[in-house]
Amino acid sequence: MSIYRIAVAEGDSIGPEIVRASMEVLNSLQDAFLNDIKLDFKEVEVGWKGIKSQGSSLPDESVKRMEASDGLILGPLDVGRYPAGDPGGPSPSGKIRKHFDLFANIRPTVSYGINKNYPNGEVNLVIVRENTEGFYADRNMFMGSGEFMPTNDVAMAVRVVTRKGSQRIIREAFKIAASRMQHVTAVHKANVLKISDGLFLQVFKEISEEFHSFKADDKIVDAMAFDLLLNPQKYDVIVTTNMFGDILSDEAAGIAGSLGLAPSLNSGDNFAMAQAVHGSAPDIAGKGIANPIAEILSCGMLFQWLGNRHNDSRLLKMSHMIDEATRKLIIKRENLTPDLGGKGNTESITKGIINKLTEVNK
Ligand code: NAD
Repeated sequence: MSIYRIAVAEGDSIGPEIVRASMEVLNSLQDAFLNDIKLDFKEVEVGWKGIKSQGSSLPDESVKRMEASDGLILGPLDVGRYPAGDPGGPSPSGKIRKHFDLFANIRPTVSYGINKNYPNGEVNLVIVRENTEGFYADRNMFMGSGEFMPTNDVAMAVRVVTRKGSQRIIREAFKIAASRMQHVTAVHKANVLKISDGLFLQVFKEISEEFHSFKADDKIVDAMAFDLLLNPQKYDVIVTTNMFGDILSDEAAGIAGSLGLAPSLNSGDNFAMAQAVHGSAPDIAGKGIANPIAEILSCGMLFQWLGNRHNDSRLLKMSHMIDEATRKLIIKRENLTPDLGGKGNTESITKGIINKLTEVNK
């Protein structure tokens, strides 16, 4: 019997609804198909739960529990509404990414034919976003913040691009492309940010020489924002710095048709965190209509990462079953949530995916 310890933080607003839905899918997978694996889920407090019980959106005790786990499932956080001075910092997710050195934020986009503006085939691409440096003031400094005000009227932000950070994210992109269409596109603004994005692009060119059988090209970020909208089917794996990746992946989610379809994994060498791309959606919290697909697929990505790390084909199969069951449900348009144009709810999607697991158990 193999035991995998997974920390689970439900997050805020729709977080508990979609994380509980994900747990239902994972528990039924384990009960029905994986009786030689034990998934040991342990709840940790992050977000409003932590603020209310321990005065921090990321209590130390929660971080210790995460450290004792193989991975983390994190619900979306209502970061925009946390009290000023919260010791969890401006973003607990950012702090977790920094603490565990989760340098790769992997954000796949699959359209499943939902967005009728893209009738010519499925959009299927992955954005690989550098996650620990760039413009993100909460994680790009050893001490202090990358954002500061020398005077009352001047605000400044420091952007960090390092050779090491560029190398590891670009290698990760080629690794992901190896099991896909073997095409990697680097996105940058090296025509203006000649030194910082110049370094990123130079490293991309050096590493792409190691992968000569792959197609490797690059695009300036503004041209990419335009082309992604018009020709998303052209792309396979896109690798870029932190903020460009953050923005382009939301654009890609729009192309797919809903933020509720956009999963993500934050991974490092020793730890990974599953977290949907979207926020805590307070406008629909408590209505039972939140789409749980992005969170469920993010959990599938975590099990794929764990399967590769521990060389455990049962976890890889589990991840594949989650992907396939979800795909079948979406393609048949069965009881989908309103964001996908359906009349269903969180529960109907969850039950639908669980029912499809038997069909995809090959
Ligand atoms: P949001 O992503 O929460 O919502 C944007 C829109 O998409 C809303 O109309 C919402 O209803 C819809 N939506 C999002 N997820 C959905 C789902 N699963 N199913 C159906 N519809 C969904 O962005 P926002 O409104 O700008 O932010 C709300 C809060 O989330 C803010 O406090 C923000 O700071 C925070 N936030 C957190 C994260 C994170 O934890 N990773 C990411 C982004 C925003």
